[in-house]
Parts: sequence; structure tokens; C-alpha cells
Amino acid sequence: MQILDGKALAKKIEQEVTDEVNRLKEVCGCTPGLAVVLVGQDPASAAYVAMKKKACDRVGFYSITHDMPEKISQEAIEKTIMMLNNDTNVDGILIQLPLPAHIDTTKLLELVTPEKDVDGFHPFNVGRLTTGLDGFVPCTPLGVMELLAEYNIDVKGKNCCVVGASNIVGKPMASLLLNADATVEICHIFTDDLKKHTLNADIILVGVGVINLIKEDMVKDGAIIIDIGINRADNGKLVGDVDFENVSKKCSYITPVPGGVGPMTISMLLSNTLKAAKLNAKKIKESK
Ligand code: NAD
Repeated sequence: MQILDGKALAKKIEQEVTDEVNRLKEVCGCTPGLAVVLVGQDPASAAYVAMKKKACDRVGFYSITHDMPEKISQEAIEKTIMMLNNDTNVDGILIQLPLPAHIDTTKLLELVTPEKDVDGFHPFNVGRLTTGLDGFVPCTPLGVMELLAEYNIDVKGKNCCVVGASNIVGKPMASLLLNADATVEICHIFTDDLKKHTLNADIILVGVGVINLIKEDMVKDGAIIIDIGINRADNGKLVGDVDFENVSKKCSYITPVPGGVGPMTISMLLSNTLKAAKLNAKKIKESK
């Protein structure tokens, strides 16, 4: 069994982004910028935003967090997003999810201009991904594809079982795999007999949020296991959705939690923001 080391690859990508940022600064005097909209006091969201901010600092991005109170109105957030859409210092806009229940999340995601949609959640970018066109792709599944590529794992023709069908993890994961010519099954909470599906898979990609959902008897010998889940165990430790101890004895490759998909998500946010900045710089140059 081999570990798919997301932490090491993320470090390598960060260095590449840093080099590219330095080059951009030299060539056109522009600094890539990321704006984060954070609403409320959810500690997990605050921790994720802090990690993203630190990563931006490490690679030399300009970054700003719009920290808003829990009870803020929909209109006030919309105003901020429109302001960020027009801010030339901002190349990427990220709305940290989940938002409080009184906020219309879909409306806000649709308000972000697709050119700054570095999370890839705008329906425009979702449509481009589904049709196999270039655009912004959600960071977590994009990070998974990069990790597989780093270990020369070609998904073409492989049976892939995606467990979890959210808009931010499972569905874009399935689209990326399909675009890379894999045979894809998507399972979710209403799937009858999950084991029947996972046992048939060459690659299992699970992002659900249930500790030990994937057990040894659900995995065929030599399967590749991508654990996207992040859960806090009773002992306070971070764990995924896979029973790592037992499944790792049976599979060929596996991502650890922490140190697998998580760091890749952050590095993909950096590369998506860099991509947005380059497109922006090109547009400005062409308009001169
Ligand atoms: P979500 O709640 O939006 O979606 C969960 C999905 O899992 C749904 O499609 C649901 O039908 C399915 N599901 C729930 N229980 C199931 C079960 N028992 N069997 C099969 N399917 C089941 O969650 P999300 O935002 O997609 O996040 C999923 C997990 O991925 C969470 O643990 C989250 O923390 C993690 N996550 C990790 C990263 C990362 O960078 N590694 C990024 C985003 C989310």
C-alpha cells in the first residue's frame, strides 16, 4: 500500500505558485488578490478561512477577509459581492460555506462574476465543467485529480465509485472523472446497499462526513481509496470517512486524513486564484 501524500504535493504546488507570482509581479506589476466573505462565528469556517489567508500570505497574494456578523442581511452581503466584482485588486472571490439559514446561498453564488469564481460554484462554471470546457473547477475535486496525476494513476476506463453527491464535492468529482474517461457511479444517502457499489470499484472517492463509513469488507483487493471526508473524532483527532487502519491493509493507494485531500484543496484555491489573476492581467493588457 502506498500513501498519496497530499501535503508534499501541496507544498510543491505552493512553490510553483510563489515562483509564478514573483514572475507576474516583475512582468506586469500585478499581485494576485483573493477576497473571502465570512459570515457568522462558525469555528470550523473561521479556521478554514484562517488557513486560506495564511496560504495566500505564503505565496505573496494580496488577500482580504470580509468578516460579517451572523445576523447580517442578504442585501448587505450582495452589496459586498458587487463591490468585490468591481474591485480591480481582487481576482478571486470566495464565499465561505455554509452560510446562516436566513441567507439565500444560491443567489449569492450566482452573483459572483464567473471570472472571479475561484471556487467554481457559479452555474456558469458548473456548466463548463459538465461540458468539458475550461473554467474554474471546485478546489477539492480538482485537488484529487492532481493528486492522482502526481502518482501516475490514470482513471481512464476505471470503475470509479464516488460516495457523496454534494455540489461542492461529489458532483464535480464525478464530472472530472467522467471528463477523464472513467466509468463513474455516484452514491449518496439514499443509495441502497452501498457495499455492492464500492466492492465493484477500482477507485473509491468518498466525501460524506461519516466516520468509518467505508470499511474493509466494502473494498476490493488493490483498490485506490480517496478519503475526502473531514470529521472530528471523540478523541479530538481529525479523521476521514474511511476506516484507515483496516482498509489500508487491503488497498493499493490511500489518502491519509489529515495530509491527503485537505492540503490539496488549499493549493488548488491558490492555483485557481493565480489563473484568475492571469486572465485578468491579460484582459487589462488587451484593453489598453
Ligand atoms: P454535504 O453534507 O453537502 O453532502 C454529503 C453527501 O453525502 C450527500 O450527497 C449525502 O447524500 C451523502 N451521504 C450522507 N450520508 C451518507 C451515507 N451514510 N452513505 C452514503 N452517502 C451519504 O457535505 P459536503 O460539503 O459535500 O462534505 C462532505 C465531507 O467532505 C465532509 O466531511 C466535509 O468536511 C468534507 N470536505 C472536505 C474537504 C477537503 O478539503 N478535504 C472539502 C470539502 C468538504
